[in-house]
Amino acid sequence: MAYKTINPYTNELVKAYPNATADDVENALSAGHQLFKQWEHETPESRAKQLHEIAQLFRDHQAQLAKAMVTDMGKLYREAQGEVELCAMIADYFADHGAKLLAPTKIETIATGDAQIQKHPLGVLMMVEPWNFPMYQIMRVFAPNFMVGNPMILKHASNTPGSAVAFENVIKESAAPNASLQNMFLSYDQVSEIIADSRVQGVALTGSERGGRSVAKAAGENLKKNTMELGGTDAFIVLDDADIDSVTDIAWRARLYNAGQVCTSSKRFIVSANLYDQFLKKLKENFANVKPGDPMDNQTTLAPMNSKRAKEKLQDQVDKAIENGATVYYGNEKVDLPGQFFQPTILTNIEKNNPAYSEEMFGPVAQVYKVNSDQEAIDLANDSDLGLGGIVFSGDPKRGTKVASQIETGMVFVNNFMASLPDLPFGGVKNSGYGREMSQLGLNAFVNEQLIVTADKPNMANLAGGLVATDPD
Ligand code: NAP
Repeated sequence: MAYKTINPYTNELVKAYPNATADDVENALSAGHQLFKQWEHETPESRAKQLHEIAQLFRDHQAQLAKAMVTDMGKLYREAQGEVELCAMIADYFADHGAKLLAPTKIETIATGDAQIQKHPLGVLMMVEPWNFPMYQIMRVFAPNFMVGNPMILKHASNTPGSAVAFENVIKESAAPNASLQNMFLSYDQVSEIIADSRVQGVALTGSERGGRSVAKAAGENLKKNTMELGGTDAFIVLDDADIDSVTDIAWRARLYNAGQVCTSSKRFIVSANLYDQFLKKLKENFANVKPGDPMDNQTTLAPMNSKRAKEKLQDQVDKAIENGATVYYGNEKVDLPGQFFQPTILTNIEKNNPAYSEEMFGPVAQVYKVNSDQEAIDLANDSDLGLGGIVFSGDPKRGTKVASQIETGMVFVNNFMASLPDLPFGGVKNSGYGREMSQLGLNAFVNEQLIVTADKPNMANLAGGLVATDPD
């Protein structure tokens, strides 16, 4: 795997990075394991101050960190600034709450003695992350596991090495030990070798179904606990009583934010028949109003896609969708700029036999479907192998919530944009993966929940799970 920054706005090769050697890998595993052994004897509280310092360093270096992301993958500078602040918020949250959430919990039991669950670190983690949120994706795993006491080795996407280095430099600048997070430019084989190493006890991947399957296979073969945060074809459901102005104000943003390259972007708009025409008209107006251009320019509202390869893949998916009967309601024309821009596009009339019906389109393309009832909307939303997130709009929040709870995904927001915050769990079901990141659930992903039962002296009543109640004598 060649690690390179190619700026997708200018198409210039900014920097290439050499791959890690076998010695680099051994040194990282050894340093990570040594730190794990040290952290086993320290409390989470002892790391909170260092994590707050990391949050502050993110804020202090906001401009430089944001620029690294823009150069790597083209996102809008102001969105990159927001991402840096979100990283700081996540670090602060786990610094403030991690120790409390990791405190031992008592169990009421019939066993003799006091029963408690203690939470201990597991060991070194292998973290594999994607390019679409080059810093936030790392922070989602880093902050909770730093508090738990699991040192991490990072393999970032091959097109965002500048962001990986910039993130690692913040850790190096802080008082946290360098082995807390070691960024490495690894081949896929090296990732598998690291997963197989006995010093590694967990694997966290965010990425595509394809990447997830390979890495989960390596984790499974080596019996390593893992979490998989994979793709989505999230539905944005508009019920017949929805306020169309709020809906249309949110809909285009929910599709075009980060140039449409978000796992939880609304990719399928499922709209009640009475609002369908109005919805399409407004979505088209909003899509037509975006301004492609330099992502560093505050006037720009549409960023380039992250790479030539990603743009070509999306174009191929749109071409196939049209060949299979989809109608282009708006867009699909060339953007007259050298960067990797894709014109926001609206597709309608997508039937079940169209490949577009079940594929994730990772860019600024909206699919719009018309439905005649809540049940039809739910059935269409659930007719997918993926189950990450979703949005439901209704004039009646209770009705919206009732529909939301029937959507087979890990997260649904009613009457609002989806938000990712440190105290809310993030993750999906079906082929969108398993496990959760962030919140208490994410904090516990790589924890040894160790049972300790302490009695004053032996008591035979506890033998065989309490079934042997008395001594025969
Ligand atoms: P990807 O190809 O799976 O890449 C993600 C990461 O996995 C990269 O670091 C990649 O490295 C690595 N990777 C891929 N195959 C691997 C293998 N066999 N062994 C070791 N590492 C491997 O994903 P992508 O297409 O770049 O990212 C977009 C996808 O991520 C979308 O499907 C999106 O929905 C999903 N996503 C999900 C979430 C979530 O939280 N659920 C969040 C963001 C994105 P290379 O770059 O070197 O190939």
